[in-house]
Amino acid sequence: MCTSTPPGADPALSTALPRFPAPIRPHWQATAAAKGFRILARIRDRYHLLLRCRTCRRDFPAKLFVLMRGQPLCPHCLAARRGALAAEAGVAFLGPDPDHAAYGQFRAPCGHILRRQFELIARVARGETGLRCETCHAAREAAEARRFGWQRLGPCPSGRPNYRLYRHRCGHVQRVAQANMLWGQCDCAGCGQSWSARPSFLYLFEIRLPGRGPRPARQYLKLGYSAHPVKRHRHQLGLPPEAGVAVLRVVAMASGHAACACETALHRQLRRAHPDAVVPRAEFADGINVTREIYRPALRPVIEAALDRIAADAGAGLS
Ligand SMILES: [Zn+2]
Ligand SMILES: [Zn+2]
Ligand SMILES: [Zn+2]
Repeated sequence: MCTSTPPGADPALSTALPRFPAPIRPHWQATAAAKGFRILARIRDRYHLLLRCRTCRRDFPAKLFVLMRGQPLCPHCLAARRGALAAEAGVAFLGPDPDHAAYGQFRAPCGHILRRQFELIARVARGETGLRCETCHAAREAAEARRFGWQRLGPCPSGRPNYRLYRHRCGHVQRVAQANMLWGQCDCAGCGQSWSARPSFLYLFEIRLPGRGPRPARQYLKLGYSAHPVKRHRHQLGLPPEAGVAVLRVVAMASGHAACACETALHRQLRRAHPDAVVPRAEFADGINVTREIYRPALRPVIEAALDRIAADAGAGLS
């Protein structure tokens, strides 16, 4: 969307559209004024008008019946609102998706272009959920698999969303559940090599507590370490049965001591640098039974970046 046009005029648009030689009825102009616009001209055919927005003073074509029966939407004001919302969500608004009005295109901080619903971007801007770049996510899954001797080939051919296709270092190709690959739990059916999990793991979970009565639904991040793949989240975290848990990241560590020391240092850093993102215990005590810090979803990029650095360091010492 061009933003360099000086306010008060869209000369290119105003002159480029073919005029329709007929008068503008006075009651049309009155309706336009009441709805925040001025009719500049009749254009194309007897159904179209060129409107000037009284908020941003820029011009756009509109249908006559939309002006008379509904509320025309100024595309320049709309783009400005969407741009501001995207900035709050940490992405750059590139423009609406040409095929779906509910979707826009956005540039993520990593440089990749994401197609997302505007409604989702609004939720990200409010801090209610995070935004994930599929390209970077696939690259990270590939890096995680490499550390256990597997090459990520792509999605599972059967289309099962939680499975991926991998090639073991022996050459054998098989499907593995992403959740198992995260923890390094994958037996190779080709060479018979059994999984050799690292002794300990750092993990990042997303916990969703559904709303109940006057309490709205809540979403939190849990960062922790474990000596075993954490499969029984509910039991280990003292979660109620209606809670949802998603494993966002797992970093295999060389020892339990290393995992514990890393986790402690990371909590200390996060507490100091992002005190606002630490959720007060009273807010989640009814739903999560943990002693460590719980964080707001907005902190996810910061925590993931820290885990990326830890994974790179830990990976340097592997295989
Ligand atoms: Zn406008
Ligand atoms: Zn990306
Ligand atoms: Zn193998």
